[in-house]
Amino acid sequence: MLQVLIIGGGPIGLACALEAAKAKLDYLVLEKGCLVNSLYNYPSNMTFFSTSERLEIGKVPFVSNNPKPTRAEALEYYRRVAVSHGVNIRLFEEVKAIKKSGKGFTVTSSKEKYSADNIIIATGFYDIPFKLNVPGEDLPKVTHYYKDPHFYAFQKVVVIGAQNSAVDAALETWRKGAEVTMVVRQPEIGQRVKYWVRPDIINRIKEGSIKAYFNSSVSSIRDREIDINTPDGMVTIENDWVIAMTGYEPNLEFLKKTGIRLSKDSSHKPEYNEKTHQTNIPGIYLAGVICGGMDTHSLFIENSRIHAKRIIADIRKHKKADPVT
Ligand SMILES: Cc1cc2nc3c(=O)[nH]c(=O)nc-3n(C[C@H](O)[C@H](O)[C@H](O)COP(=O)(O)OP(=O)(O)OC[C@H]3O[C@@H](n4cnc5c(N)ncnc54)[C@H](O)[C@@H]3O)c2cc1C
Repeated sequence: MLQVLIIGGGPIGLACALEAAKAKLDYLVLEKGCLVNSLYNYPSNMTFFSTSERLEIGKVPFVSNNPKPTRAEALEYYRRVAVSHGVNIRLFEEVKAIKKSGKGFTVTSSKEKYSADNIIIATGFYDIPFKLNVPGEDLPKVTHYYKDPHFYAFQKVVVIGAQNSAVDAALETWRKGAEVTMVVRQPEIGQRVKYWVRPDIINRIKEGSIKAYFNSSVSSIRDREIDINTPDGMVTIENDWVIAMTGYEPNLEFLKKTGIRLSKDSSHKPEYNEKTHQTNIPGIYLAGVICGGMDTHSLFIENSRIHAKRIIADIRKHKKADPVT
């Protein structure tokens, strides 16, 4: 019987693992993909908006050569942390269900069954892309996960969205010779776009290098064209690829199936104690960005690293109060 089973090997799942090890708790992390799977799937050339020390976990220094670290440096950092601390993690093993059983829980993964006294769910928000819900969305030319600009050289690319990921994709692909059109629901480029990148995209649009339709949405996608609903009416343009950077949502169904209550408002925030991170099910805790429900922008690595300490402190408190477990 494990004392703690952590679901998700992202930065915050790892932070929980380090904290559990420090408290000498018998723990295991289960991760459905590779180590820090979400970060691995971010665009290859992505740069964090946080400085490296704000991404540190377990007081392990994160040394970067850049003012803002790159994805490659972050992958290297979290892997080194996992190796140097001998983090007990099983990769490519997805948790399918959590069931109450006696004083603890039975966890069923894609490979095995486990028993644990406590569960920490740190499953992030990068798994389910927001759908456009338009005809043609399922064509192979449409992606919700942009990786690398080279692929799009000399192609007609539509980028949907105007936040960081969309802006990075538009600028990178344009710089590799793509003909880029942005389709933006809002009247302007997002205010949250990295302050050193925003002027770049605004100027490329102003000079006409990148075309942008604001207050507009894609209404249909076909093999060679795309229809855009603009304030001046429907526009049809030739198109090879669509990069839909429309955001992601956490797997809230998994929480519901586990019995965790969600708020009734549009944030669908899971119910948990802000001090201990224990949910309405005693023994099940939430850590990291999943705590925000649909409000995926309020929590990130910087401000959710602290969850690990709060959770492990609470687990230790209960352990002392109940020496049998
Ligand atoms: C382009 C981009 C740039 C960003 N830049 C920054 C930044 O500069 N600073 C910052 O602080 N934050 C930044 N963020 C946000 C940050 O990456 C996330 O907030 C962070 O990854 C959250 O960590 P987490 O451990 O909660 O979730 P994640 O990193 O998403 O980890 C969750 C893990 O759980 C795994 N998982 C999910 N379901 C299961 C299951 N059923 N069984 C097993 N494993 C499962 C996933 O595969 C994943 O590895 C950025 C995000 C993006 C998209």
